[in-house]
Amino acid sequence: MNKSVSQTTLFVNDIPVTVKRKRIKNLYLRVRGSSGEVEVSAPSRCSLDELERWLFDRQDWLIKQRERAALQPVLPEYKFVSGEQHKCWGENCTLNVVVKKRGTSVERFHNQLTLTSLPHYNDIQRKQVLNRWYRQQISQEVETLLEVWQPRMGAYSSGFGIKAMKTRWGSCNIRSKKIWLNLELVKKPPQCLEYVVVHELVHLFERYHNARFYALMDRFLPDWRERKKLTNQLI
Ligand SMILES: [Zn+2]
Repeated sequence: MNKSVSQTTLFVNDIPVTVKRKRIKNLYLRVRGSSGEVEVSAPSRCSLDELERWLFDRQDWLIKQRERAALQPVLPEYKFVSGEQHKCWGENCTLNVVVKKRGTSVERFHNQLTLTSLPHYNDIQRKQVLNRWYRQQISQEVETLLEVWQPRMGAYSSGFGIKAMKTRWGSCNIRSKKIWLNLELVKKPPQCLEYVVVHELVHLFERYHNARFYALMDRFLPDWRERKKLTNQLI
């Protein structure tokens, strides 16, 4: 059942996979690290049905790879100057840098972020000012979410921390009951942070990602799958 097309696109769990026909014997799958694009090289004799089945067996791996790519997005090289677009809770905000002799701050008004910088500040120092603000934003939001979700679920953490993490959106230390959240979540729509908070709280009941874990997720946050997809969408 040879197809004459040399390049086509298949969907595995909503992930587009570019199929390239080549004069090879085996199938090769790869995910481009920077963009998360998935490409499979296939021998021309391999039917689309066979290919779909082969990819279906590898969907968990694919999802994991996409997640990694989403955690390491290709960020524009920011210079932290007026006019740049910065993400906040899933929205694009225009940066407006104001230089003053004393005091640093960030204020958001609609989709405008006003960063007050000292005269001698370079891009790294301006970035620190913005990151401090991002950290405050996410901390406030997490506090609110915990106030709502802990009593609702009957699961109580001992506290939380925010940090930059390379490979995950959050984590939960089962022993100390402390949860950690990725600072990058401040750039995603708010429902992503809520999903990760609930996910980490569920770990207080169930350590592993097993059937029991997902049953609890379904119970507490029935639309968690959509939220997960949204969280892992490349920005
Ligand atoms: Zn987990």
